[in-house]
Amino acid sequence: MSLYIDGSFLSDRPTVPVLNPATEEVIGQVPLATPEDLDQAIAAAVRAFATWRDTPIAERTRILLKAADLLVSRADHVARVMTIEQGKPLAEARSEVLRVAGALRWDAEDARRAYGRIIPSAGDTVLSVRHEPIGPVAAFTPWNFPAGSPMRKIAGALSAGCSIVIKASEETPGTAVELVRCFAEAGLPAGALNLVFGDPAEVSRHLIASPDIRLVAFTGSIPVGKLLAAQAGAAMKPSLMELGGHAPVIVCEDADPVLAARKAVAAKFANAGQVCTSPSRFLVHESLYERFVEEFRAQTSRVVVGDGLTEGVTMGPLANERRLKAMEEFVTDAVSKGATIVAGGERLDRPGYFFAPTVLTGVPGDARVMREEPFGPIAPINSFTDLDDALRIANELPYGLAAYGFTRSSKTAEKLISGLEAGILSINHCGGSVHEAPSGGVKSSGYGKEGGPEGLEAYLITKRVSHLLV
Ligand code: NAD
Repeated sequence: MSLYIDGSFLSDRPTVPVLNPATEEVIGQVPLATPEDLDQAIAAAVRAFATWRDTPIAERTRILLKAADLLVSRADHVARVMTIEQGKPLAEARSEVLRVAGALRWDAEDARRAYGRIIPSAGDTVLSVRHEPIGPVAAFTPWNFPAGSPMRKIAGALSAGCSIVIKASEETPGTAVELVRCFAEAGLPAGALNLVFGDPAEVSRHLIASPDIRLVAFTGSIPVGKLLAAQAGAAMKPSLMELGGHAPVIVCEDADPVLAARKAVAAKFANAGQVCTSPSRFLVHESLYERFVEEFRAQTSRVVVGDGLTEGVTMGPLANERRLKAMEEFVTDAVSKGATIVAGGERLDRPGYFFAPTVLTGVPGDARVMREEPFGPIAPINSFTDLDDALRIANELPYGLAAYGFTRSSKTAEKLISGLEAGILSINHCGGSVHEAPSGGVKSSGYGKEGGPEGLEAYLITKRVSHLLV
């Protein structure tokens, strides 16, 4: 594992160990950047920006598409690296790698359409609107999608013509290094992409304070997002904040409870629930409640927990010990307040950070798991009588990332769509993110979008040009 600064892989630095969450064994050492390394990364990004932004778009696209091809050709290897350091099942890791290669291709192609416009004006003046890359970007990404989160930022920045210094997670550094190798081998100029690791607070403070950094892009928790957004605001630079959520799932009176439970279970335990859009508060109409809970329990019992490298495993360990402790605390708190454990509820008696897929019913509204993002394999299920009440409960938290609704009525669906305060909505299924449409939250879940044409907007500035012909 190494840093990547100005086109060089560097590992001769103090390190911290990286663990396999399925075995708790040390699998490698990640080097930590010094303040001088960070300054060099910024300087390299500034130099590279000057040339990368003016590189013909066809050439930029060619390099980025080549990096995507290299990543696809290495998908098996990169997926293995990811599973060993993060825990998710190999098939999930592989599909993440292929998905991010697709996202890179989409952004690279879409950047060719960063059209401006010419506006009719007085005959001797050409009035136009142009889009230009914003400049060197500082990005910070977490450990739950070791390829997905970094690639969203890298693809957006490089496609738009920006350079980037990214601090990926110290807990999943190997995957980020593999991504970087693809860009380096595809011919990306030195300095356009720099990868660092270090003490998160020190690195972010250092990079955000630099006047050379023009945009801050972060994915992670709301408290850290608020901190970094405040630092960016103090330096008057824009930020892109992809923060946590606590997605409600409303199963309406006219829904198919079996279909809803099946779709919900598949989404709930993907990546062991460590997904910002994971369905995490289930509100089921009282007439379907028992049937829904029974099907949910039955489907949950089919989840195969184990080492992500083992064939047939459908849920790996939690990514770190912090999540395991958090799950234990959520369950203890909910049960002490009156919730019933229908499935799971405890860590598995084996090495590794394994927690059983857990279903809770009758969970009081003041239980922590109903108010704080669980970010793990816990599904609290409650019933409701009146849809307006369910909507009120769904919207009462400060989160506003994803929300889900199940109904057979288009009228009810429209009520959910307009009534739910969320940036990402799925009706009658639990849809994942797609390249061609934007993802991002409202309220405390952040601002700015990733994916779709909106995804590139953060990395571009808009310039109004009034050109008097002489
Ligand atoms: P955390 O809040 O300590 O860290 C979240 C991420 O932010 C990590 O990658 C961490 O390295 C980084 N970070 C922390 N302080 C930072 C700083 N000052 N500057 C830059 N980066 C910083 O929590 P955690 O234990 O890693 O994860 C727990 C919570 O984080 C979860 O409950 C979940 O709410 C949230 N989370 C959200 C996402 C997401 O995709 N939105 C991803 C991972 C974690």
